[in-house]
Amino acid sequence: MRNLSKSKLIAYRQCPKRLWLEVHCPELREDSAATQASFKVGNTVGDIARQIYDPEGSGILLDAQRDGFDAVFKQSAKLLDSALPIFEASFATEGALAFADVMLPDKQGRKRVWRMVEVKSSTEVKDYHRDDAAIQSFIARKAGVPLASIALAHIDSDWVYPGKGDYRGLLKECDLTSEAFSRDDEVQELIAEAQSVVAKRKEPKIGTGGQCSSPFACGFFDYCQSQEPQAEFPVHWLPSIRANALREHIAANPALELRDTPDELLNDLQQRVKDHTLSGEIYFDAASAEEALQAYRLPAYFLDFETIQFAVPIWKGTRPYQQIPFQFSLHRLGRTGKLESQAFLDLTGDDPSRSFADSLIAACGNSGPIFVYNAGFEGARISELAKRFKKLASSLLAIKERLVDLHPITKANYYHPSQQGSWSIKAVLPAIAPDLNYEALEGVQNGGMAMEAYLEAIHPDTTSERKAAIEQQLLAYCGLDTFAMVRLWQFLAGRKDLEL
Ligand code: SF4
Repeated sequence: MRNLSKSKLIAYRQCPKRLWLEVHCPELREDSAATQASFKVGNTVGDIARQIYDPEGSGILLDAQRDGFDAVFKQSAKLLDSALPIFEASFATEGALAFADVMLPDKQGRKRVWRMVEVKSSTEVKDYHRDDAAIQSFIARKAGVPLASIALAHIDSDWVYPGKGDYRGLLKECDLTSEAFSRDDEVQELIAEAQSVVAKRKEPKIGTGGQCSSPFACGFFDYCQSQEPQAEFPVHWLPSIRANALREHIAANPALELRDTPDELLNDLQQRVKDHTLSGEIYFDAASAEEALQAYRLPAYFLDFETIQFAVPIWKGTRPYQQIPFQFSLHRLGRTGKLESQAFLDLTGDDPSRSFADSLIAACGNSGPIFVYNAGFEGARISELAKRFKKLASSLLAIKERLVDLHPITKANYYHPSQQGSWSIKAVLPAIAPDLNYEALEGVQNGGMAMEAYLEAIHPDTTSERKAAIEQQLLAYCGLDTFAMVRLWQFLAGRKDLEL
């Protein structure tokens, strides 16, 4: 019998096939960029947790990758006789093994006991964290560790970084001792079931479904999907699948064709997507779109932000995971059709917030609609800036008042079959302005890439030549986002008279 790690047991809980593939065909796993990014975030939070729980630096960090499992098991057993904090201590029992993020020595009378803390980069305790805690504590106690308690430490998203590397307060603890300790029978059963799956010669027959993305995106999705018949027009192209009857219908048959989806389960928008996707005909209510935009006269502005967020804040006065704008692009369309563009981009590596806010106020003028796509995002960032910089609040909130969202107007009045049920600007643009192409952009082609590029640009090891190249890529990307909006506005407003 092989020892299954806690992450393997959690994989089993998500999907028995996932566990089987993790053990027998790990080479089929392809983690998405988002999953890889979340591993990096987890490592960063783990590093900070060690500083927080061991401010004097007297603790011991074990490394199974470097020293091998056997060595680390022995080191862990030895260290449990000491009174030092231990990081990544490992224990094994009954076909399972666990690595504890943090083990802190404590006393019960004269007896040495230990407090286990599992560190998570999320901002709340999730159900699978509770499973984690139950599994970890079971394995540790079965391995003979005198465990007095187990807690989960997650990020406190309300905490504001005071600067100077002081991260006390970043993590919030939630005690899970009684809950975790009461689940021993369940964990024992889980280990036995997982072992029986691993012992099978063939992978379990399980189709893709809701479990593939919850609680984690499964890295075997492409493999599993390649084994299944693919729908020509998949039902998941339907927007906003929230109604229970439709959800249940889809869950029962994830490869369902749009054409086989009963009309009575669809709302008006979903029906439109179904009808126009199957017929291949464009839906466009030009009169209604024009009417929706009639109230907004030229000159008009078109605005887009790029933001960055850190689980562990690097700038004083900011919160974990706060979206901090570092770039905007603004196009101004005058009455005669004259188009001017402005941009702000801060790659100094300092907190860009204040200069972003100043530049935004200077660029937006005092009047005229400011078109955005998904106003909630830009509006929320402006409100946050107004909260941070009280003296700028009235000017910033005046900008927010002028925001006009092109997204709902587009969604209500236009659908091209190529959108595949999405109204993101990148789905709509190829239909209304095929000459504008994000894929032709060098380096940065979407928001995720913009964040990566920003992080690379502010890194101290990045050369000035590379930084200059990134700067151009970011300016081109964000500029295309706002120019795309200009063209979308022109299309919806029926302003063929303007040459843009
Ligand atoms: S993709 Fe879905 S079905 Fe396949 S292993 Fe992962 S969770 Fe299971």
